[in-house]
Amino acid sequence: MTTTQPLELLAPLAGVLLPLDQVPDPVFSSRLIGDGVCIDPTSQTLCAPLAGVISNIQDSGHAVSVTDDHGVQVLMHIGLDTVNLAGKGFTRLVEEGQRVVAGQPLIEFDADYIALNARSLLTLMLVVSGEPFTLLAAATGLVEAGQPLLRVTPAIGAANGAEEEGDALFSKPLTLPNANGLHARPAAVLAQAAKGFKASICLHKQTQSANAKSLVAIMGLQTVRGDTLQVSAAGADAAAAIEALVALLAQGCGEAVAVVAEAIAPLSSATVLRGVCASPGSAFGHVVQVTEPELNVTEKGTGEPPERAALTRALQAAAQALQALQDKASGSAQAQIFGAHQELLEDPTLLEHAHGLLAQGKSAAFAWNSATLATAALFEQSGSPLLAERAADMADVGQRVLKLILGVQDGAWDLPEQAILIAEQLTPSQTASLDPAKVLGFITVAGGATSHVAILARALGLPAICGVPVQVLAIPDGSPVLLDADKGELHLEPAPGVIETLRAAREQQVVRHQRDVQQAALAATTRDGHHIEVTANVASLQEVQQALALGAEGVGLLRSEFLYLDRNRAPSPQEQAQTYSAIAGVLGPERNLVVRTLDVGGDKPLAYVPMDSETNPFLGLRGIRLCLERPELLREQFRAILASAGLARLHIMLPMVSLLSELRQAREILEEQALALGLSELPKLGIMIEVPSAALMADVFAPHVDFFSIGTNDLTQYTLAMDRDHPRLASQADSFHPAVLRLIDTTVKAAHAHGKWVGVCGALASEALAVPMLLGLGVDELSVSVPLIPSIKATVRELDLADCQIIARQVLGLEEAGQVREALRLYHTATVETLPVVEH
Ligand code: PEP
Ligand code: MG
Repeated sequence: MTTTQPLELLAPLAGVLLPLDQVPDPVFSSRLIGDGVCIDPTSQTLCAPLAGVISNIQDSGHAVSVTDDHGVQVLMHIGLDTVNLAGKGFTRLVEEGQRVVAGQPLIEFDADYIALNARSLLTLMLVVSGEPFTLLAAATGLVEAGQPLLRVTPAIGAANGAEEEGDALFSKPLTLPNANGLHARPAAVLAQAAKGFKASICLHKQTQSANAKSLVAIMGLQTVRGDTLQVSAAGADAAAAIEALVALLAQGCGEAVAVVAEAIAPLSSATVLRGVCASPGSAFGHVVQVTEPELNVTEKGTGEPPERAALTRALQAAAQALQALQDKASGSAQAQIFGAHQELLEDPTLLEHAHGLLAQGKSAAFAWNSATLATAALFEQSGSPLLAERAADMADVGQRVLKLILGVQDGAWDLPEQAILIAEQLTPSQTASLDPAKVLGFITVAGGATSHVAILARALGLPAICGVPVQVLAIPDGSPVLLDADKGELHLEPAPGVIETLRAAREQQVVRHQRDVQQAALAATTRDGHHIEVTANVASLQEVQQALALGAEGVGLLRSEFLYLDRNRAPSPQEQAQTYSAIAGVLGPERNLVVRTLDVGGDKPLAYVPMDSETNPFLGLRGIRLCLERPELLREQFRAILASAGLARLHIMLPMVSLLSELRQAREILEEQALALGLSELPKLGIMIEVPSAALMADVFAPHVDFFSIGTNDLTQYTLAMDRDHPRLASQADSFHPAVLRLIDTTVKAAHAHGKWVGVCGALASEALAVPMLLGLGVDELSVSVPLIPSIKATVRELDLADCQIIARQVLGLEEAGQVREALRLYHTATVETLPVVEH
């Protein structure tokens, strides 16, 4: 290694210099990333410490690297754990690949915001290419921005862009589990581990590759959670390097990872793979692994006007294709999703980003791809599971347009009959275009039960599971498999007996369902004459109409936040009033309409209600808390809802109430609005019971409400402290847990003692198995997912209230959800299944 002229690095900021050992983060203090200095900033602009090229700038704007012509790489990292801010508080002033001079401003940051929202403002300047340096200032004390700070001796021949030599070995693809991708910390751990091997090692993401021994090169891949990566290595210890690095990546490279994404090991003796039910049902068929064609994107354009025209043409063609999909969509859910995709095509920020790159001479494909990837990454890193799932929509739209620009055919797959599709991830468009005549079901590694893909699968009636271990991607095409989506299971090489049992059960279910639909108009009255109201959970006018056709006696939960979920702008007060009045008008004055006020926050962002990102959104400003923070939202919504008074039996329901004061404040606002509208009578006002405090204090709330409706979805997650969308906890976050049932019991007793009625509108009410227990606990109303209304009503008609009361007492004393389910199954077999069908 020869050396060249020393190089002076300037202080990138003004502030107080600290030795690296004092940084309260081992990844920096141990010099894992590289040696350098730390500054506690007093200025708010980070400047280049040396002349060179921006070798990496993170999309989130918190870290930037400059590489000079001799290969000296300097990484600057603003604050600790600032990757979690997802770009908020940072303004990037330069682009990757741009040449900069020493002292040039690179990033502006809002020191107050970062100090309040991140762990620390301490900023690092590290020589990550490893050259030795000497300090030109006192080890501690004040430094001025631009003052010479380090003298580095560059080395020649230590460039980081090492290419693999000789034949490279490749790992199987693996899914990146890190919430924020391979940002500085995990990238440093990976690079450090790679440096322990002699082999030259590369990390691959689609068509991009990076030297796995270079922290900056790894960060340059701009990876996000769920990316498919491969490791390759060439040299004596290549196999050992691949094995070690793949294991490290699968474990999160030193970061705690919530969703374990194992490297694809050869399928062991496991014959059942488990995931989460995205859409119920079961099917036996043959595996078809779905893989996407590789798209080659060239960065440099052929001139701005033709590239701009190419992007415009592709956007127009995509808009037409989405319109066609929307027109032929069989349900409102599908139509809404393609409508949302069309909105994304017109998103001004996205287009601005793409046009900015076109103006820099980039190709249409590159500009569009970069803009969509950046937007998807922002969604991913938002910290909100629901928004992260919308990243899949962004990626879907991105691919659609990209293929149009590149002229790649996006034809339907040539599928055999009885196909069970397996994919890392399906896009909503792919899901919507599946032909149910050929595809019997699908399995994905990514996704959650609330994703659009899951909604579409349910609309298509296709059984599906998601969150399945990545080993599933190694099942050979054509393998016979049994998909039991109800249990979230995929059986490999199923025995003929198991297939036959499941098929027979399925046939019986179909016959029973047909009968239930025919009898949907019959009342839900038990054999011993107890009537229970079966109403619908709806999110649109269309669903109200479907619900009535399927025998709903009213609407027990209108999820008002879903009415305008995919809109960027708030609906006008008139539009809101029209929506509620239209729904109330369809129901008429004899039926209940329970409108829940906006339940935004947690997993449900609403585009036109901007919210700060929260570390723990389910425990943050959600539901009524958010509305009381922004009372103008609640005021406007109350006014719009009140416009429908008289058209139906109007009820207003507040979500996520945990304190009595919340109910009091909301009631005051409601009374004030009713008075302003000159209404002589207030509609009924109730609360959701979905927080343990509300259930435990139901006797205190009861005198102040007209009704309660129990949201078992949230009540379960808050009682058991298990995220309702967590793929690994899904089987334990079970509403049949006796702890949840005891809270239901407490609520019903308190309500009845004050003459108030209680409904259940969480998913537990839509489970036929739970119906005897809920009736026995004294619940007065079941508000049910629309397609299940006929079967829940039929179940009620098969029961005796007296028996239900006995089984309810019994399950309250059990220890676990599994025992409750088992007791109810036994009860069901012993009573319901032995009864003849009652003709009313
Ligand atoms: C619930 O939490 O059970 C409920 C019905 O509300 P949502 O599912 O909309 O949060
Ligand atoms: Mg809820």
